[in-house]
Amino acid sequence: MASDMMILGKRIKHFRISAGMTLEQLGDAVGVVPSQLSLIENGKREPKLSLLTSIASSLSVTVPELLSTEAPDRRSELEIELERLQQSELYTSLNLPAVRSTKGLTDDALEAIVGLHKEMERRARQSIATPEEARRANTELQAVMREKNNYLPELDQLAEDLVKRTGHESGALMHRTVAEMANLLGFELIFVDDLPSSARSVTDTANGRIYLPPASIPGGHGLRAMALQAMAHRVLGHEKPHTYAEFLKQRLEINYFAAACLMPRSRSVAFLQNAKKERNIAIEDFRDAFGVTHEAAALRFTNLATEHLGLRTHFLRVNQGEGIFRGYANDGLRIPADANGSIEGQVVCRKWPARVAFERTNRTNEFYQYTDTPGGTFWDSTQTGTGEKEVFSISVGVPFDDAKWFRGRDTDNREVSTCPNEACCKIPAEDLTQRWAGNAWPSARMHAHVLSPLPSGTFPGVDDNELFAFLERHANAGA
Ligand SMILES: [Zn+2]
Repeated sequence: MASDMMILGKRIKHFRISAGMTLEQLGDAVGVVPSQLSLIENGKREPKLSLLTSIASSLSVTVPELLSTEAPDRRSELEIELERLQQSELYTSLNLPAVRSTKGLTDDALEAIVGLHKEMERRARQSIATPEEARRANTELQAVMREKNNYLPELDQLAEDLVKRTGHESGALMHRTVAEMANLLGFELIFVDDLPSSARSVTDTANGRIYLPPASIPGGHGLRAMALQAMAHRVLGHEKPHTYAEFLKQRLEINYFAAACLMPRSRSVAFLQNAKKERNIAIEDFRDAFGVTHEAAALRFTNLATEHLGLRTHFLRVNQGEGIFRGYANDGLRIPADANGSIEGQVVCRKWPARVAFERTNRTNEFYQYTDTPGGTFWDSTQTGTGEKEVFSISVGVPFDDAKWFRGRDTDNREVSTCPNEACCKIPAEDLTQRWAGNAWPSARMHAHVLSPLPSGTFPGVDDNELFAFLERHANAGA
């Protein structure tokens, strides 16, 4: 180890100077020439154990003291750090001269150079967490979840236990019950209108408080889920994520935990098994029974369908004009993906119900469709909705043979999709091409970034200044 040899050299030099000896004097004492000793002190040569033993006894220290891996003082620590940083790939790629830490280099100058090096290293590391890395981590996580049939039984158990402790046994989980759950965990829910703009909720672990946006905002389901997600971080013992993969995994787990509280496993499974027995499974009924959003119910259905209903499924949320926002399949449906396996932002076939549903004039009820694809025939139930800025469709589907368990199986809607074959729906009609090719100039719409790189700050995506000022303000106000 080059750096260990450097530390050893620095320690020998440190103890030699403390003992008031010159290189010559120590050299004489141990029987080597001063130049030899100098090479050792500079970390360029490793001393034999016999020599090390004589050096130790001449300096009145022990061998283990010499071999300690700690830099003997701040100056030595900086010198070792500088050596290491200048040998890094990052620095050598700049083709700049190496600075020698000679006596002429003051401590301040050394501190400044090492500080700049470290900041450069930190920024380089941060910029490696590109959207590319984020997408790769996301794709890997999706593969893991497909492997597990989108089911995390340990989280279900934790969620169900917590809900049970409040005595809640039927119907939708109320705000009051969510607050009670927080109390059981030692937290109080506080609604405020000045949360940092970059945070959805903030937890003050010192004072046991979870700050949430005002209770009066539209879409109360969102609020219960947000509170549950904040609690999930504590229940699951999350620590600060260091990589985008960890960040995404925690996001997935808190979302799962919140959904598992809002739709506890045993009651959800009983509800869905009963619907299956009656051949009348419908996401809208599941949604209404538990008072959640359609998307939450659809996703929750995929958590439980394979293990508890014996059904392989797929889920798609497609934003109109923006492609896939979220997707999952363990039933063989080939969700379009880019070369890296990433599905977000990909355009689905025009014949798929996820897009056909946008063309309907009456969007008040569920849309059902059978679709023949190269990978088999699938049945889907699709609902459209309007978000803050976008129009979207939520589809849940199964292979043809399993449509019999669902409401809407008797639909006459049927499409044939040969995608990814370009002739399916990507190539425009010949006459239109002739008329318009060369005469069209659209201005493209910028897509919202589905994933952004790991932001700086103590927590991903949150401004520390804003966050800490917020906590300070509230901790002092209501205590
Ligand atoms: Zn197509």
